[in-house]
Amino acid sequence: SPLFSAIEMAPRDPILGITEGFNADKNPAKVNLGVGVYYDDNGKVPLLECVRKAEAILMEKLAPRTYLPIEGLAAYDKAVQELVFGADSAVVQEKRAVTVQAIGGTGALKIGADFLQRFSPNSQVWISDPSWENHRALFESAGFVVNNYPYYDAATRGVNFAGMLDALKTMPSGSIVLLHACCHNPTGADLTDDQWTQVIEVVTQRGLVPFLDMAYQGFGDGIEADGKVVRRFAEAGGALFVSNSFSKSFSLYGERVGALSIAAATAEEASRVLSQLKRVVRTNYSNPPTHGGQVVATVLATPELRALWEEELAGMRVRIREMRQLFVKQLKEKAPAHDFDFVIKQRGMFSYSGLTKVQVEALRDNNSIYAVDTGRICVAALNSKNIDNVIDAIAKVL
Ligand code: PMP
Repeated sequence: SPLFSAIEMAPRDPILGITEGFNADKNPAKVNLGVGVYYDDNGKVPLLECVRKAEAILMEKLAPRTYLPIEGLAAYDKAVQELVFGADSAVVQEKRAVTVQAIGGTGALKIGADFLQRFSPNSQVWISDPSWENHRALFESAGFVVNNYPYYDAATRGVNFAGMLDALKTMPSGSIVLLHACCHNPTGADLTDDQWTQVIEVVTQRGLVPFLDMAYQGFGDGIEADGKVVRRFAEAGGALFVSNSFSKSFSLYGERVGALSIAAATAEEASRVLSQLKRVVRTNYSNPPTHGGQVVATVLATPELRALWEEELAGMRVRIREMRQLFVKQLKEKAPAHDFDFVIKQRGMFSYSGLTKVQVEALRDNNSIYAVDTGRICVAALNSKNIDNVIDAIAKVL
């Protein structure tokens, strides 16, 4: 048809492309470090015990599947809001926060982006350089001009904090600043508490609109520690957007469970915001699905399941940390001329390893080890069985 004949092929998603290559590879020793998923030590995506137990409780009830409210399951929204801001926080106590269930973290970002486009169409969006590869496309498709602020410094393998702060100081009031609350994707380089203090100060002074993306709460230093920056922003007052995801922290990728929370100045302002957020949801997908939200709400609201979740999440966090330690230790032995100590300092599932595109290609072609061209590796895909292989291969390409 003339409609389709003019359509060009869209570029392949670079990360899904890696997985396609990996799946087609016949080498039994192949390793996929290109993914954004947590694997256990057996190389499997875990089904958490707290999820299994919550699902057993839900099966007992076998509730009918009517529509949820536009903003999602009330028990879920409440539990998530308390997790994100703290039950005893001023924003929650004073009913200045609103939370809507979303289709994963991506859905939360999209609802936030559409809402902002409706009420602040002339603002521009700023994302870190580099950032999660979907941030730019998502805000652009919502109609925004998207810019980068300096973030990663390849020379120090850390954050170019002076550059970041300078950029924040030149943004016009009302600019939307996307910040990774913890476990920066793709670099693994996070800000320190002191650096956050300075960011919050500049954002507040200049009237910028912070949009915190928290997709990895609990994978850095713990649920509380990772969420602290959200609470600090909320205490600073001012409009605040927070997207969070349970894809990783509950290992519920395919259930698509996330939420968008917004902190406003008054309860009355918050209720107007919520009414408009509901319009955005209504015109996108009407209302969210039931299952994932019920599982998460059940776990968060049942003390023994919640304790179990915290334990299981700690298990994932600790295993990743151990892999970072082992990675560095083994490379010290096999490639002593190279310093990889920065890998231990990085947080979350990813590491900007410093491997070049040529080295990444060599790993793939010679050893069936798949990483992202930028050198990003998923530390959560390393395990006690594949690490020796991976280290030997990396030592060879260095
Ligand atoms: N933000 C960041 C920084 C992410 O890494 C991801 C997922 N990889 C998301 C958002 C999206 O999360 P979800 O899969 O829950 O949509």
